[in-house]
Amino acid sequence: MPNCAKCKQDIEDNEIYFDCDSCKRPIHAQPYSDFTSCEIKCTQLKKRVLRFVCNDCNSGLLQIPSIIQTIQELKTEIDLLKAPTPTKSSDSNPVSILQVNEIISEMNECELRKKNVMVFGLPENQNNIQAEKKYGA
Ligand SMILES: [Zn+2]
Ligand SMILES: [Zn+2]
Repeated sequence: MPNCAKCKQDIEDNEIYFDCDSCKRPIHAQPYSDFTSCEIKCTQLKKRVLRFVCNDCNSGLLQIPSIIQTIQELKTEIDLLKAPTPTKSSDSNPVSILQVNEIISEMNECELRKKNVMVFGLPENQNNIQAEKKYGA
């Protein structure tokens, strides 16, 4: 005889049991089901239509709606995590191009300033100044 999934005892010939319709484990009809004696008789029929789900499976079934809700919440969270990623990358590209342009224009300004400084430092400038002095005099 099989062992009862609940009390782990051998199920005797005179004891009524049925298999859980979910996990298929044999379980003593009494006291592990809420079935009436009439309903228990029905489960003993060859073609039984009464379904029996053990407490373990039943508590699992009761958790399914909350599990489904959790999955849906996770899906929305994943969608939110997925959504900003492409917009972020597309946003960052024009920004970086703008930054590069700014850097290039700044560099050009620096180059121009350098040239100005260098022009003033050249000896021909002194000539110009001297020339100006000459003209001024
Ligand atoms: Zn038992
Ligand atoms: Zn079960």
